[in-house]
Amino acid sequence: MSNHFPVDRALFDDVMVPNYAPSAVIPVRGEGSRVWDQQDKEFIDFAGGIAVNCLGHCHPALVSALKEQGEKIWHLSNVMTNEPALRLAKKLVDNTFGEKVYFANSGAESNEAALKLARRWALDNFGEQKSQIISFKQGFHGRTFFTVTVGGQAAYSDGFGPKPGDVVHAEYNDLDSLKEIMSDNTCAVMMEPLQGEGGIVSPTKEFAEGVRELCDQHNALLIFDEVQTGVGRLGTLYAYEGLGVTPDILTTAKALGGGFPIGAMLTTTEIAKHLKIGTHGSTYGGNPLACAVAEAAFDTVNTPEVLAGVNAKEALYRDGLNAINEKYNVFSEIRGKGLLIGAVLTEEYKGRAKDFLVAAMEEGVMTLVAGANIVRFAPSLVIPDADIAEGLARFEKAVAKLAK
Ligand SMILES: *Cc1c(COP(=O)(O)O)cnc(C)c1O
Repeated sequence: MSNHFPVDRALFDDVMVPNYAPSAVIPVRGEGSRVWDQQDKEFIDFAGGIAVNCLGHCHPALVSALKEQGEKIWHLSNVMTNEPALRLAKKLVDNTFGEKVYFANSGAESNEAALKLARRWALDNFGEQKSQIISFKQGFHGRTFFTVTVGGQAAYSDGFGPKPGDVVHAEYNDLDSLKEIMSDNTCAVMMEPLQGEGGIVSPTKEFAEGVRELCDQHNALLIFDEVQTGVGRLGTLYAYEGLGVTPDILTTAKALGGGFPIGAMLTTTEIAKHLKIGTHGSTYGGNPLACAVAEAAFDTVNTPEVLAGVNAKEALYRDGLNAINEKYNVFSEIRGKGLLIGAVLTEEYKGRAKDFLVAAMEEGVMTLVAGANIVRFAPSLVIPDADIAEGLARFEKAVAKLAK
């Protein structure tokens, strides 16, 4: 390439909008769960692009699907349908409660579609008064104005003018707080079947079942945002299976494309019919290139071996993190499920999750945070056991430095 300017971290501040604060490290290639930066320094990837790279980097099945479709047809628009979208939709329908699929390009857009569908369904069936949307504090549903308003952190939705109305928040894992605000005017309850960004918080079985019952009592739709928990992340194809609670609408993105942007909303035929011709749409949604890659990711993840492997690898992380903690006493709890794991810092290290992330990066292992107090791990679902061991050894070195 004939670039006559340095492409480095300083360039980010020159040319990019300052809404992110990226690391100084600029990765340039990856293979499996290893990544190399511009200086050829190697990292083990425990971050997985924030629970996106479910098959690591450059998985052969995804690369060949991308190449194959890339030489056939990339884009058509929804004026025509296409084979990869139809095949992927069929597989999603065959393997979930869903009977109908809407494709989008991201988690937020999938949730936007779910919320708009819920409002239409309620309007058509019950009338204008049934518009209340309830979600949970600390929940995260994306950054469009509707989804960020439904999300449970006012700090993310404040400061942009008037918000979409009739959106209220209850406490996660507190059924009474939901009971108090729910009524026959509730249109939908949106929740994550394990809060990701909000701190890796699992719902109790009683809570999840109770939310389902309340929705049934009040004729409200239950929407599961499985953008982070879906596609094998928790050891089942979708988290609702493990909970034994079936939603009316489910959204999925992140791992769905294994790194290629795509999202989807699944629902029943009865509910789907309210999103009739012209009510909603997307230029790219269901694009053949995205769907071809997602189909390959879906086929690869949705096997008993890969899903069982998630549970076996969770045990390796838990054992390794507990062993580190026995030496350094920095975590009060290791929580989460499958390969979505949170290490909660003790009172002494409160607010310093980012320091652990930065120190780990220096030792050659990429991690995530979930808020200021939790170090989060969301690696590839097929990360080799040897990479888990090596990555944890590097992470231990980082902990040792900070614990001094
Ligand atoms: C990441 C995430 C989103 C937003 O997805 P985008 O692709 O960034 O729009 C929504 N919900 C949950 C639970 C997420 O983790």
